[in-house]
Amino acid sequence: MAKNKPDLTTLKAETRLVVAAREYAEHGMVNPAVYHASTVLYPTVKSLRDESQAYSYGREGTPTSRAFETAIATLEGGHDAAVSPSGAAAISTTLLAFLKTGDHLLMVDTTYHRTRKFCDGLLKGLGIETTYYDPLAGSDIAAHIRPNTRVVFCESPGSQTMEVQDIPAIADAAHKKGCLVFIDNTWSAGFYFNAFAHGCDVSIQAATKYIVGHSDTMLGVTTCSKEAWPQFKEAYLLMGQFAGPDDMYLALRGLRTLDVRLERHHRNAMKLAEWLRGRSEVETVLYPALSNDPGHRIWKRDFTGACGLFSVVLKPTSRESVAAMLNGLNLFGMGFSWGGFESLVVPFKPHRTATSWTAMGPALRFHIGLENPDDLIDDLKQGFERLKKTS
Ligand SMILES: *Cc1c(COP(=O)(O)O)cnc(C)c1O
Repeated sequence: MAKNKPDLTTLKAETRLVVAAREYAEHGMVNPAVYHASTVLYPTVKSLRDESQAYSYGREGTPTSRAFETAIATLEGGHDAAVSPSGAAAISTTLLAFLKTGDHLLMVDTTYHRTRKFCDGLLKGLGIETTYYDPLAGSDIAAHIRPNTRVVFCESPGSQTMEVQDIPAIADAAHKKGCLVFIDNTWSAGFYFNAFAHGCDVSIQAATKYIVGHSDTMLGVTTCSKEAWPQFKEAYLLMGQFAGPDDMYLALRGLRTLDVRLERHHRNAMKLAEWLRGRSEVETVLYPALSNDPGHRIWKRDFTGACGLFSVVLKPTSRESVAAMLNGLNLFGMGFSWGGFESLVVPFKPHRTATSWTAMGPALRFHIGLENPDDLIDDLKQGFERLKKTS
């Protein structure tokens, strides 16, 4: 790296992915060291007392954690970021940092299922009320905001059903009423949707997915605006959050190739989505990058790309036929999580309370990996043959 630190604000997103946080590497290395650290030594009593040392204790940050967090804050366009041991931990820590007993939370109806469970379980037990809102609410969100509403939580596109939210409209209405706006930004990997430029105060990601990108590490990260950061960071430290150094290193390593991986995921997913859309067994493909998707207009306005995750609603068929289709697939694995190099498929039934899911046929969520899309199509073609034979 050049001796002078480049001014990141003048650089394009792809370049920022490559150069961000490189100042944490030492001795001419390109990458930072993986610091396995709890104890940090102080040379003098004075240095202990005046707390002037950059690093004080393992949990409070190492060059490895600061490199990853700084790179994420740069990617997301936020003020600063802090790592958690999973995406779920990042979400719960962030909500607990801003909500207290008596507060009200507005949660998008299409939220990740664990986030819903956290709100209906632990937050409810603490006397924090959650109500769910229609992901397509836009500025109508104002009607749901109460005097004690502290946070409006978004996730766009929505988990499983892929509704694209009008984040600028929601953020504008929420800010007018003094609420903070959080987003689960995992689908865009923080690269295809700039949460802060669209009005969010906090962006949370399951780095487990595309940032890590290789299905081998659990990690979460929360990025905040300058105003939201102090309250978040204080609670984060009080809750004792941190993560393992090897995991943080793998996430930083993944980040460097995020652009090229996402570009291929997007291209492959488009090819598969278009092919699926043309199949007689398919009712609809839910993928905002498709020109006829209901969320396409806002996606095109606010996003710069699409990842490899989309859903499909099949025409009504039996559970056995769906099982016959999926059981025999060779290239599509069945499993949760996504964002790795490999293709996946899982059947799902959305849990909705503010809206209703009216599709008649079974729904499948696909993650399109980095395989050649023609091989993936062949695998699915044979799957549809099995589906037809058993229906
Ligand atoms: C996977 C996921 C999470 C949870 O992340 P973990 O790292 O698995 O805890 C949260 N939000 C979304 C949208 C996810 O897909």
